Amino acid sequence: MPRLPCSAEKGGSDKPSCGAFTSARRAGRATSSRRPRQLVLAVFAAALLALSGEDAGAAPPGYELNDGHFHLTNYVQEGTDIHDFLEIMGTRVWRVALFGIPLQQQWSHRVSGDVAPTYYLDADSDLYYYSFTDAYIATEYLSLSERERERFDPMITGFNPADMYAADHIRRVLETFPGVFSGIGEFTVHKEFVSAKIAGDVPSLSDPAIDRIFDFAAEVGLVVILHNDIHMPFAEPSEAHVQFHRIKQLFARHPKTVIIWAHTGLGRVIQPVGGHVAMLEEILDDPDLDHVHFDISWNEMAKYAVSSPAAVELTAGMIEGHPDRFLFGTDEVAPQNQHSYLKINELYGPLWNALTAETKAKVRIGNYERLFDEANRKVRAWEAANVRRDPNRRGDTEKEKLR
Ligand SMILES: [Zn+2]
Repeated sequence: MPRLPCSAEKGGSDKPSCGAFTSARRAGRATSSRRPRQLVLAVFAAALLALSGEDAGAAPPGYELNDGHFHLTNYVQEGTDIHDFLEIMGTRVWRVALFGIPLQQQWSHRVSGDVAPTYYLDADSDLYYYSFTDAYIATEYLSLSERERERFDPMITGFNPADMYAADHIRRVLETFPGVFSGIGEFTVHKEFVSAKIAGDVPSLSDPAIDRIFDFAAEVGLVVILHNDIHMPFAEPSEAHVQFHRIKQLFARHPKTVIIWAHTGLGRVIQPVGGHVAMLEEILDDPDLDHVHFDISWNEMAKYAVSSPAAVELTAGMIEGHPDRFLFGTDEVAPQNQHSYLKINELYGPLWNALTAETKAKVRIGNYERLFDEANRKVRAWEAANVRRDPNRRGDTEKEKLR
């Protein structure tokens, strides 16, 4: 079905599903009035793409999901070839927020002998930040054809959130791979079993280094996916709100940063304490925090949401009350087939059945498109203004050279 260029072409709109515009989002084309001829060319190219049915930003009919949380590689930086992963996405998943894992599990022979750990629970040895992940993800992405790239929104993760230089790393990655990245994360501040294993300083929600990261993300327009447990494992009820209040303060300090709080703060043993939904609704109902969204990724989160008819009802009620603030994600790591990749979708069956068709479509498809299309517009504009471009660079596509 052909689409006409929509009003978002003129910039500033955050309307979802603007197909013609998003077809050209990777083109990083100018929105500045200083480049009217290029703008006309780009709009024309986008319209042509749309009329030819090559509508890339909005999911074509039949696709069920956009995945807002996906790890191509694991804790030892190994994973699925991105071309194989496209096959796994198949005709069910249209777009994917693509990242590796910023932490490498060290294989210490002193600790685990010949048993090579591949997960953070496999050995007592440290995790350390592995910044090469960003170059790896960019290179995988750039190995795709331009049309295939439209289905991925790569994310920068290879920085240490306890380091005041983290924001400089993010800038350097954007400068090295212009035209590639859409956001940062998933990165972690507090995570059960993980934070305490990281070599060096433990990150903190009140660290100025985090504020620098969030400020820079706002300046560029990068989406931020943050993992932060809503409380400590096995927390007493009296302690359960301490982390929550600290993360709310962080969110409130950064009203211009588009934030996705991963897994609504839950984890493997981070169970929803009494009042979990009430805490989330404190954020959802606060007009000063309308830049905060939640992903419902990870089987470990889904298991709580569908643990009983009452839990499904509670979760569905919260989402129905705020249908624009939740995104589906798998949180799968280096999957080998579609069945394992999408098992969380099956797990969420009772939740899908409890939502209206309109809300379900927003959570599974539309909210992703709105947030990431807007991020891509802003990041490409920031790059156009801030990154000195060399037409022979790998990241400069044919369409970009038109500018
Ligand atoms: Zn994850």
